[in-house]
Amino acid sequence: MTRICPHCNGECGSLWRREVSMSNAYREAFYSGSCRIKNKVKSIG
Ligand SMILES: [Zn+2]
Repeated sequence: MTRICPHCNGECGSLWRREVSMSNAYREAFYSGSCRIKNKVKSIG
């Protein structure tokens, strides 16, 4: 299961992958991935 990047609402086009084991630990959906925009820009806002 994947979702769009939560950091930029999918603007970077990166998909984050759901980590089932982590989701069970946190009892919530846990996604792992990297934001291409956030990785490029050091400071936002
Ligand atoms: Zn992003």
